[in-house]
Amino acid sequence: MSATDFPILILGAGFSGVGMGIRLKQAGIESFTILERADDVGGTWRDNHYPGAACDVHSHLYSYGFEQNPEWSRAFGKQPEIQSYILDLAERHDIYRHVRFNTEVTGARFDEDTGLWTVDTEDGASLQARVVVSAVGALADPSYPDIPGLEDFQGKLMHTSRWDPDVDLRGKRVGVIGTGASAIQVVPTIAPEVGELKVFQRTPPWVIPKFDRAMSEWEKFAFRHVPGLLSARRIALYWMYEFLNGPMIISAQPWLKRLGADWGKRHIAKSIKDPELRRKLTPDYEFGCKRVLISNDYYPALARDNVELVDGGVARLTGKGAVDAAGNEHELDVIISATGFDVPSAGAPVPIQGRDGLDLDTVWSQGAEAYKGITVSGFPNLFFLLGPNTGPGHTSVLAYTEKQMDYTVQAIQTLQKRDLKYVDVKQSVQDAFNKDLHARMENTVWLKGGCSSWYLAPSGKNTTLYPDFNFKYRLSVRRFNPREYELARA
Ligand code: NAP
Repeated sequence: MSATDFPILILGAGFSGVGMGIRLKQAGIESFTILERADDVGGTWRDNHYPGAACDVHSHLYSYGFEQNPEWSRAFGKQPEIQSYILDLAERHDIYRHVRFNTEVTGARFDEDTGLWTVDTEDGASLQARVVVSAVGALADPSYPDIPGLEDFQGKLMHTSRWDPDVDLRGKRVGVIGTGASAIQVVPTIAPEVGELKVFQRTPPWVIPKFDRAMSEWEKFAFRHVPGLLSARRIALYWMYEFLNGPMIISAQPWLKRLGADWGKRHIAKSIKDPELRRKLTPDYEFGCKRVLISNDYYPALARDNVELVDGGVARLTGKGAVDAAGNEHELDVIISATGFDVPSAGAPVPIQGRDGLDLDTVWSQGAEAYKGITVSGFPNLFFLLGPNTGPGHTSVLAYTEKQMDYTVQAIQTLQKRDLKYVDVKQSVQDAFNKDLHARMENTVWLKGGCSSWYLAPSGKNTTLYPDFNFKYRLSVRRFNPREYELARA
């Protein structure tokens, strides 16, 4: 089938967009184009090349089940290796030929009469598609801190996800704003080379040990040659995340939260001798409320002589540096903003108009909702990867997106086999799904744990995470059920 017979547009050539392309090809569907705003594939793994960038999920699980890799050099892969894995996938599956690089999507609208989407791009083009798959990801656009004087700083200011490799940090006075997943990786990596390092903490994270190690040559050899061994490791890791990690994060049981918090406190005590620094580093909210971080070198880095933890965040920036909450000015040459991403928890990623001019931004203004995180009523033939409430609090994100790709392929095959104009999830089906999901969300630590996080939309609704075990999600999306959809004949 050629691109003109059944054109499919995928928005974004990140990990998910590349994976979606592969799954389509494996299903014999070649009629897709991927629109990518940057000049290479990889998405957040292309952009986040700050020193120390790595994954905090085991690589044998943070890789596709349909493309397992025996060559991972470590238990937890670092950014260059993960990006190479994605580039290699794109190369081997001939994905590049489907990608239009430097193409930013500015909007999409659906025409009910023809059953076609029109997708506009910044360069003035309008493309038509029977199906649109949004693979734009949540961690794409950097969020800079809303701090007075940001423009005044005369030194170098850079965001972790827009790292400038030409900046020489050796011997410099460096400030890091934020203590999230990115910060705890960059801080220990740069601490030995900088002159002084000030870490501006607003809220301490819970941090537990990272059981990282190099994979031996023997292990890699065995993964390459012993049938089933690689899959066995993946399955073991999967259930470990489900039943060791999962309960501590998902369950509302206070004793499990205490178990996690005690683990975190012991981890602080092991590296930090100063009682005052220990106090500053101990969170006052429940374990799991924000993303639990894993690191063995973050606390030791904070205990170094050239590193200072400045509690209370940054009050304002000046031409020379940062003023902390107590009013002390810290002179700095470089400021690293490790302040996370503009996560689209409410509103559409780009202006999207569905049936009868329905506007997705308006529909999602109080917090995004979809059916199983994939389809939205009133927006036919539009599929989301990593859509609302399908982010993981405890396991690999790919355990969700992989299944969403397969669900989307099944929907496309249904459209083709039954010669349908479109499928549109019934509002009643979507509402029942979300009623149940948000009832389960009610008692989660993300809502009740006493913290604020990027998981929550401004309305306070958790629109990002799935409030249950991944295996339940996987079971629920294993089959595309046309009865849950309004089907329009061609
Ligand atoms: P983040 O978790 O959102 O952390 C942002 C940090 O910046 C927080 O400590 C936040 O403090 C602080 N901050 C924000 N605005 C501030 C301000 N105005 N003044 C002072 N501090 C401010 O961002 P991230 O660390 O980039 O991580 C985002 C997500 O990316 C993670 O949750 C994870 O899903 C993913 N990630 C994963 C890995 C990995 O290993 N796989 C690595 C990096 C990132 P508050 O807590 O007070 O808001």
